[in-house]
Amino acid sequence: MSSTNSGMSGPQWFSTSERLLGARSTITAVSAAHDLLAKNREWAARTERENPGFFTNLVHQQRPRYLWIGCSDSRVPANQIVGLRPGEVFVHRNVANLVVHSDLNAVSVLDFAVNALEVEEIIVCGHYGCGGIEAALAPESGRTYDHWIRHVRDIAKFYREDIDSQPSRAAKERRLCELNVVVQCVHVRESPVLRTPAGRKVKVHGWIYDLADGLLRDLGALVDSTRPIAPSCMD
Ligand SMILES: [Zn+2]
Repeated sequence: MSSTNSGMSGPQWFSTSERLLGARSTITAVSAAHDLLAKNREWAARTERENPGFFTNLVHQQRPRYLWIGCSDSRVPANQIVGLRPGEVFVHRNVANLVVHSDLNAVSVLDFAVNALEVEEIIVCGHYGCGGIEAALAPESGRTYDHWIRHVRDIAKFYREDIDSQPSRAAKERRLCELNVVVQCVHVRESPVLRTPAGRKVKVHGWIYDLADGLLRDLGALVDSTRPIAPSCMD
């Protein structure tokens, strides 16, 4: 179906995307995305007004000090919650902020961040109220994401005694959120990427974000007291 047939006019790619996606998808995309495009223009203009040359400088250099490994949850946007601007943090996000050794996406991000961008610090950030963590304490759903959540179920099994000792369901979920961050810190630390000369200089932090108050907490104390995984996480 062409753009003429659908009653819309616009750039040629609209009609191309209609052919690929179907008219219904195209109409939805156009109406939902228009606001975002307008907001983007406002943001770009405001940023350039407040910081003349901002985008020109970014084009020529990407030297973030931090790699952020966080959850995909829309309520935990990396840059905003730590007050960093574009160019200041390299970001990798997935459901439940996992670092799985066989995940080529994650290990490629690690490699690029450490050996190409030469980040100095890696922050693994989980959050309370994480749907991925809650799913790991619930029966399997039969959905595709069960495969991904299996990694968290394994952590829950390993720390079953600790989790079972928590007084409520909410407390168990919060505890697993924390333990998951600690384990992912270890995965980062144990990655071959962190054994390169550049990798050995990198500091790894485990943090957790509370949706209820917008604050981050350092899990360093928890890491210190959690064995046997503690030692390699806090180097
Ligand atoms: Zn989450």
